[in-house]
Amino acid sequence: MLSPLPLIAGAICSAGAASIYYATYSVRSQWLGATVWRGSPDTSAVALTFDDGPGPDTERILDVLGEQHLCATFFMIGRHVERFPKTAARVVTEGHEVGNHSYSHPIFLYQSRRQTSYQLGRTQAVIAYETGTEPELARPPCGVRTRAYFRATRELGLRTVQWDVAGFDWRHRNADQIAQSVLSRVCAGSIILLHDGDSEGKQDRRATVAALPLIIGGLSARGLSVVPLRRLLGDTKFERAA
Ligand SMILES: [Zn+2]
Repeated sequence: MLSPLPLIAGAICSAGAASIYYATYSVRSQWLGATVWRGSPDTSAVALTFDDGPGPDTERILDVLGEQHLCATFFMIGRHVERFPKTAARVVTEGHEVGNHSYSHPIFLYQSRRQTSYQLGRTQAVIAYETGTEPELARPPCGVRTRAYFRATRELGLRTVQWDVAGFDWRHRNADQIAQSVLSRVCAGSIILLHDGDSEGKQDRRATVAALPLIIGGLSARGLSVVPLRRLLGDTKFERAA
């Protein structure tokens, strides 16, 4: 007769793996540390966030935001800041917020504690050097958080901000598809995830640039206004500074 023990052990293992997956990959998980993924729904506001830049298309996104007098948050990759320092500086000069998105975009689940700390610490230093501003927000690559990640962000004073709505612009979508992805799911308090760069530097973001006016117009038609992320999160310090 087949012993039930291997089956039970297998079930426990897969339950353990599922738990680790949820704790690290789930955008909304709070298991390993405090994670913000949306603002208060008691508002008619949303926030725009852009990951993986700066890159060549960041300038075009800044042009669109400037024309519309809107502020966004850019979660930057440290090595991309070193490559496009003037673009990173322009982001800050034009009143947008900058967040830490690691130095080379690794999945932290597969990084040592030392590497995780290095990735975040070096990016803080690079952004501060090139823009004159030290980030207070962080978003880990692909949203994956670990104990080592939270240890490092605590030491650096970084608050973790994920998202609740994505344009899925990393999947080679056109502008209409990106805008539709956002507008079909967005609601009051949403934090919208888009990309102004590519972590590998291979894919351009022209579709995201073209989608942005569609998204802004669609939000307006729904009575939703775009506000700076920290205002959406009720940061009164930022209200006074703005
Ligand atoms: Zn990313």
